[in-house]
Amino acid sequence: MPIEIEIVPCLSDNYAYLVQSGAFCAVVDPSEPGPVEAALTKRGWSLTHILNTHHHLDHTGGNLALKEETGAQVVGPGKDAARIPGIDIGVDEASGWAFDGRKVQVLEVPAHTRGAITFVIDGNAFTGDTLFTLGCGRLFEGDPQTMWTSLSKLMTLPDDTRIWCGHEYTQSNGRFALTLEPGNGVLKRRMDDVNAARAAGKATVPSTMGLEKATNPFLRPDSGEIRKSLGMEKADTVTVFGEIRERKNNF
Ligand SMILES: [Zn+2]
Repeated sequence: MPIEIEIVPCLSDNYAYLVQSGAFCAVVDPSEPGPVEAALTKRGWSLTHILNTHHHLDHTGGNLALKEETGAQVVGPGKDAARIPGIDIGVDEASGWAFDGRKVQVLEVPAHTRGAITFVIDGNAFTGDTLFTLGCGRLFEGDPQTMWTSLSKLMTLPDDTRIWCGHEYTQSNGRFALTLEPGNGVLKRRMDDVNAARAAGKATVPSTMGLEKATNPFLRPDSGEIRKSLGMEKADTVTVFGEIRERKNNF
């Protein structure tokens, strides 16, 4: 049986996700308990695990209430255990994890936070605030080299990997992307789809790794058009990546 995934909008623009398999149900990054409880009731699922990609409050704010109500176990980055409320199981790349007998890949992707991880379950990558659809997270606890190494690790996932990120930022990210790569036809078509989805009040997740590699400027610092837009034809990859991040900070 394939896993089922339910998108749970939280706060103003966060996404938590319910991941259901057999008798198990995990929530990824519960910002707050209320919307997660409502989604569980609607689907008739019982929460068994809480997965955190990183420690920020808008990804862990529901941990303790949900744990108290359901007895769910909290799974998060072992290297950042001190900052994960209620953590029961610390994981890393070496340990991985298992969910209803399914192998779960854990990728350590520091830079947004030192302990950030991505969970990969059956071709679904829960990237938190490291890789966004058409964007990447801010560098709160790492430098451009660290984030580039983390994103490069994610880029080794198969192109059909579905990307479920922590926020609905696609439309504003895409507006920025078009300033750097206005000639990217795949990006332009994608933005038509994104604009239509948002006008209809729909989520723009999931994306796929293949689509991100073709359109996300943070994965494309070697694009000739982006380099030309930045006037950085000869700079090294990490320097270009850092400049893209800096420009997005001020966009
Ligand atoms: Zn964050």
